[in-house]
Amino acid sequence: MERQAVQRAREAFLSGRTRPLEFRLQQLHALQRMIAEKETEIATALKQDINRSQYDTPLLELIGIENEIKLAIGKLREWAASRPAEKNLLTISDEVYIQPEPLGVVLIIGAWNYPWALTLMPLVGAIAAGNAAVVKPSELSECSSLLLRALLPRYLDKDLYPVVTGSVSETQELLRLRFDHIVFTGSSPVAKLVMEAAARHLTPVTLELGGKSPCYIDKNCDIRVACRRITWGKFINCGQTCIAPDYILCEPCIQGRVVECIRQTLLEFYGADPKCSPDYGRIVNQRHFNRIMGLMEGYTPVVGGQSDSSQRYIAPTVLKDVPPHSRLMQEEIFGPVLPIVTVSDMDNAITFINEREKPLALYIFCSDKKAIKKMIAETTSGGVTVNDVMMHYTLNSLPFGGVGQSGMGRYHGKHTFDQLSHHRACMVRSLGMESVNLARYPPQNRRALLR
Ligand code: NAD
Repeated sequence: MERQAVQRAREAFLSGRTRPLEFRLQQLHALQRMIAEKETEIATALKQDINRSQYDTPLLELIGIENEIKLAIGKLREWAASRPAEKNLLTISDEVYIQPEPLGVVLIIGAWNYPWALTLMPLVGAIAAGNAAVVKPSELSECSSLLLRALLPRYLDKDLYPVVTGSVSETQELLRLRFDHIVFTGSSPVAKLVMEAAARHLTPVTLELGGKSPCYIDKNCDIRVACRRITWGKFINCGQTCIAPDYILCEPCIQGRVVECIRQTLLEFYGADPKCSPDYGRIVNQRHFNRIMGLMEGYTPVVGGQSDSSQRYIAPTVLKDVPPHSRLMQEEIFGPVLPIVTVSDMDNAITFINEREKPLALYIFCSDKKAIKKMIAETTSGGVTVNDVMMHYTLNSLPFGGVGQSGMGRYHGKHTFDQLSHHRACMVRSLGMESVNLARYPPQNRRALLR
């Protein structure tokens, strides 16, 4: 089944029909129509998968995909055009350029937390770059996966862009096959298996992973506003966002105020009982529910802490004075639990961040421009947003991706097009002016004469 789908995609690619830009544009328009016409069905599937609020689906998922499609449609001719390259004296009369060209068949493996964005955003770039693409959504967001499998062939070329559903065994079956690029979004342990499988075919990979994204709050910033923005980013999608602030770093003197401001904001966002709020989500499955509950063991939450296993509900929870070496501070939380770790100052926060794996995102809340520049300069992360969270993700001019354990490669906008293209070095010479070439031909004594 998987093998046949990949085979058909490769044959369709080899037929050459993705080469003309007109074809790619037509497919992108069809994808655009799909999103516009099926918004309600998509939102319903997400409601069933993770109790995603109907209001959040366009905001968190569909607008991003639509912007990505619009940009690709508007810029495709520019992106796909040959790019002139600089020449030297020996090549002055040649035609020298870089030609982006399709790679072939791309495998896109998505995670469940944003099942539409994480599969369709790479797909937009794959289509724009003229590739075929096999899409493998996560089995954990089953309703979305099945809907995607039903919808895509109704709008797009059936052979070029198949959707393969299934769980680990189906993904492993796919990974045994040969692709020209793999875009994987998910966890680091699975990414290692993906990379191992890709290595067997020398297939390049883009790995969009996670990790613990720190959030530093400086004592002199507007803590109320900072906490409102952090609360939004942490608890939206029930904390199941790869670039959610994983934990807060702040000085002990503001910890109490940070807790109070988050408490106030939670009340404002989700009311006295977040369980009843239509805007508050649920944990995707029982395994993740148990994992997050396990991480909270031994702590007395200062906010939240309530749970209901039958609904996989965990209240927005804040923990203070969390020891830096506790288990909670070792693994990505990926749930609605926000630990606060205290540091003595910004330098201490920088050391804390640099002693750990390179994060996917870093958030700095600070009003001192010099201190902001210093913190950016002395740390590293996939991306960084200052005085807000997650917003760097929304701008498709910025490359999105991790560094070190948080991933490799980048995408969004033109970055996806470039990532999924081969940049072919092209030099077109003439057969004239042969005398200039004598210097590089044997015999040696002629070369010596020319010196
Ligand atoms: P996961 O690694 O468990 O699964 C991702 C995909 O891999 C799924 O499609 C799944 O079917 C497949 N898979 C799972 N086990 C496999 C195996 N043994 N062999 C082959 N394939 C396998 O990740 P997840 O739970 O779906 O997602 C959560 C993780 O993804 C978090 O770490 C999060 O930070 C990260 N994430 C990153 C981004 C990003 O853009 N960087 C976005 C969302 C999520």
